[in-house]
Amino acid sequence: MRWSKTLIPTHKEDPSHAETTSHKLMLRAGLIRRLTSGVYNYLPLGWRVIRKVEAIVREEMDRIGCQELLMPVVSPAELWQETGRWDVYGKELWRVHDRNGRQFALGPTHEEVVTDIVRNEVRSYRQLPFTLYQIQTKFRDEIRPRFGVVRAREFIMKDAYSFHRDEDSLNETYKAMYDAYCRIFDRCDLSYRPVEAATGAIGGSASHEFMVLCDTGESEVIVCECGYAATDERAEGLIADIMPVEDPLPIEPVDTPGMKTIEDVSEFLGVEPWRLIKTIVYVADGEPVVALIRGDRDINEEKLAGLLGASMIEAAPPAVVEKVTGAPVGFAGPVGLSGVRLMVDRSVEPLRNVVVGGNAVDVHIRNVNAGRDFSVDGYCDIARIGKGDLCRKCGKTMDSFRGIEVSQVFKLGTKYSDSMKATFLNENGKAMPFVMGCYGLGISRTMAAIIEQHSDEYGITWPMSVAPFDVEILAVKFRNEEVREISERLYSDLKAAGIDVLLDDRHDSPGVKFKDADLIGIPIRVTVGERGLKSGALEIRMRETGEQRDLPIDGAVAEITKIVEEAKA
Ligand code: ATP
Ligand code: MG
Repeated sequence: MRWSKTLIPTHKEDPSHAETTSHKLMLRAGLIRRLTSGVYNYLPLGWRVIRKVEAIVREEMDRIGCQELLMPVVSPAELWQETGRWDVYGKELWRVHDRNGRQFALGPTHEEVVTDIVRNEVRSYRQLPFTLYQIQTKFRDEIRPRFGVVRAREFIMKDAYSFHRDEDSLNETYKAMYDAYCRIFDRCDLSYRPVEAATGAIGGSASHEFMVLCDTGESEVIVCECGYAATDERAEGLIADIMPVEDPLPIEPVDTPGMKTIEDVSEFLGVEPWRLIKTIVYVADGEPVVALIRGDRDINEEKLAGLLGASMIEAAPPAVVEKVTGAPVGFAGPVGLSGVRLMVDRSVEPLRNVVVGGNAVDVHIRNVNAGRDFSVDGYCDIARIGKGDLCRKCGKTMDSFRGIEVSQVFKLGTKYSDSMKATFLNENGKAMPFVMGCYGLGISRTMAAIIEQHSDEYGITWPMSVAPFDVEILAVKFRNEEVREISERLYSDLKAAGIDVLLDDRHDSPGVKFKDADLIGIPIRVTVGERGLKSGALEIRMRETGEQRDLPIDGAVAEITKIVEEAKA
């Protein structure tokens, strides 16, 4: 490719609205351009990277025997209604209608569509197991699109779905997919970590996310020396007790006019937040539930929903809070509550003589003790666990790091085949639901994650495996006849040798061309300049390490080809 004939619109300055390294560099190096919120054009350089990441993904999917297909972006509402996700997915599901008012979803993921194919086409256990995958544009109307293509509303995903007769077979494919993902991210030269994950709106029994280590990542991962690693949505752990042993005191209502939050009450009564119980009313699948936790901690709604077996959970609206507690929002407490399920976090168990809401306007109660003043059926783990909490496996204090989630794999079990009545006949002729797995990998997000880990103050430093080009020929003064001739020859010889090569044949100043070369970050730069040519030499420079040396023109093609091939091996 000749620079003069393609579109690589580079910028000197960081765009003011971009917050992360990858977002800034993708704009500055002319990889992407925003069309509207969360929707991007992939310009030629960016598209080349996408195609290279896709090629790696395809190779690794094909290697483990997956079959590629392509499902439509548009899917009818009826399919989503069958599984209940038309409602559960909420506003993220991008809904459209046709001229007759019929409703459709723009696919955010394809469990429904693929299950529909399989229930219509697959009859026998003999056809199992198999895995289908596609690489496709997905739509999610994200509440906060940001960081460029990291959290976009339209993005590219590889999604795979496996179908099995039983859990053992699912476990085998899950493992193969997990290993394939490790190979993919190794080949993209990413530093990553697979961690235990929550299952969210997709559902299922087990899940892992692959996290690319990055300080600006939106995900938090809780880790322990013993090897335990889980996302903050999922992490389990123990909250260290801070409660001194005390004798129970008699309960005592107190006036707390207008004091509705833990902070308000704690300050007003002069007690530490951990000496309060936080009482939160939720609605889980339409039913009110009350959750209790130590005042200085937060409820993990994912874990709570999981324990309740609920597919949807949200903080109760004020009217429900009033109905359940008899008081407006801000005064809920466990004493005297009835007719509602109580979920009590383990952090409440050691507490003595604490403050709770009084279930009446402007009233709290002091010296409340679980068991004596309200009954507890059993304590559970519904706390948001973080850095500093204790590992459940080994008891050590845990740490945390930030990361970008580039992929997630799920053991779905029969969640979708049950609700969509997708069955096969087993050896005995009995209809059984397919056991399923699903495996998503964000192609466009992976491109951004690679840049987060491969850049310096001058620009991107692409790994050879996904770089838009292997080699850039920088012709210092393209008007000079000798420079032009040597550059052109090198360009066509490298192309003939199968190397992806970009020739900077622009008539711009050397300063501009060198800066742009650093910015777009092609792994090998070969400089053709008048000075070097006098002694029959080119200059070769490695973008990532900065290592550079002279390269005799004779034999240059063979030498460069060798370097590229070694880097790709
Ligand atoms: P997140 O928690 O970041 O919203 P998710 O759990 O919703 O991600 P999945 O449904 O597992 O994501 O989708 C599979 C992959 O698709 C993710 O691992 C990620 O790489 C990519 N992905 C998801 N949402 C987006 C988005 N809005 N923009 C770009 N890529 C995305
Ligand atoms: Mg999401």
